[in-house]
Amino acid sequence: MAITWVDELPLEGKRVFCRVDFNVPLDSEQRVTDDTRIRAAIPTLKHILERGGKLICASHLGRPKGKVVEKLRMEPVGACLAELLGPDYQVLVTDEPVGDGARKVVADMREGDVVLLENLRFEAGEKKNEPAFARALAEMADVYVNNAFGTAHRAHASMVGLIPYVEAFGGGFLIKKEVDFIGRLLGEVDRPFVALLGGAKVSDKIGVLENLINRVDAILIGGAMANTFIKARGGEVGASRVEDDSLKTARRIMDKALDRSVDLLLPVDARVADSLEATECQVADADRVPAGLMALDIGPKTSAAFGELLGSAKTVFWNGPMGVFENDTFAQGTFAAAQSIADSDAVSVVGGGDSVSAIKKSGLQDQISHISTGGGASLEFVEGKTLPGLAALEK
Ligand code: ADP
Ligand code: MG
Repeated sequence: MAITWVDELPLEGKRVFCRVDFNVPLDSEQRVTDDTRIRAAIPTLKHILERGGKLICASHLGRPKGKVVEKLRMEPVGACLAELLGPDYQVLVTDEPVGDGARKVVADMREGDVVLLENLRFEAGEKKNEPAFARALAEMADVYVNNAFGTAHRAHASMVGLIPYVEAFGGGFLIKKEVDFIGRLLGEVDRPFVALLGGAKVSDKIGVLENLINRVDAILIGGAMANTFIKARGGEVGASRVEDDSLKTARRIMDKALDRSVDLLLPVDARVADSLEATECQVADADRVPAGLMALDIGPKTSAAFGELLGSAKTVFWNGPMGVFENDTFAQGTFAAAQSIADSDAVSVVGGGDSVSAIKKSGLQDQISHISTGGGASLEFVEGKTLPGLAALEK
């Protein structure tokens, strides 16, 4: 991929517009509850500042749908950014994403100032990729750096539209890291290459399954998704979550795996209960879940079988929890899988919003080679789709 990275761009004395993904969770008192995405941007931001660039950051936050929503202002994000950048810098948050006010703040920037524009999605032109909005953003910048991997699957004004209006453009270190790690999965990999897939719905993950089945040596399927596969093979899944309209897809995927001699492992046992909130569970055969009960986590035999393949893998991609990990009663399968990956010497990549939360909850995040900051973007990348935000950076 021919992207110019931030360390090859002219930065000294330039107004550098950095599109970041600061779409972070806030609590009811507008405090940032997880600053992972802000932290992940810091190396790029520091690089720009240390090379003498005048830094203007911009992001969306939540879904304000093209108008001002007080609770979605960037102020708390700015406070968090200021803390992470340290005392040498002062973060100024504008009160609108574009317009006279924002332009003036940028024009008056002094040494050590960092500007954070107000929530880009306060303007409808952002999501619509309107040229007028893109141009208004570009007017505040000389150089454009995109570091918002989590938004790379969106062709929005700040991601794509403004690029023709700047002197130079390129990608930040976070995007580079994501492209390196996830891109590696789609090229030559060390084998065995094992994919661990789970989570809520087969229908969300068809593209990922279809693309990976051509590349991996084994696919291990857990989570609610496994129920659909088990039912498609004639198993009894009781009251488990199943997608009846994906049974055919499941069969097709199993046929493909057979065709290509890819090992496709389904759970042999499951932790079952009558409610997602249950505090106790029993173990049942995965294809004989008693009527009225739901399979809410993979069972111990399944964890052992998955663990064996994960342990000997050289490359692992993981998306989707093995069970309802939000409830401790059904978190064991997910944590066991995380432990197997942590113990293996594989290059491991984890993507997906809930999967990343699960890995953090397990406390094993430091033993994973790469935890993607993009939920939907990482999955679309693994599906082999072109991400507009990345395509726009290519020369
Ligand atoms: P990601 O965000 O990592 O892509 P998903 O959104 O596909 O993952 O799936 C995560 C959700 O799937 C979790 O909220 C989890 O509770 C749910 N889940 C996992 N296993 C089951 C199961 N057996 N039954 C019902 N829900 C499940
Ligand atoms: Mg999810």
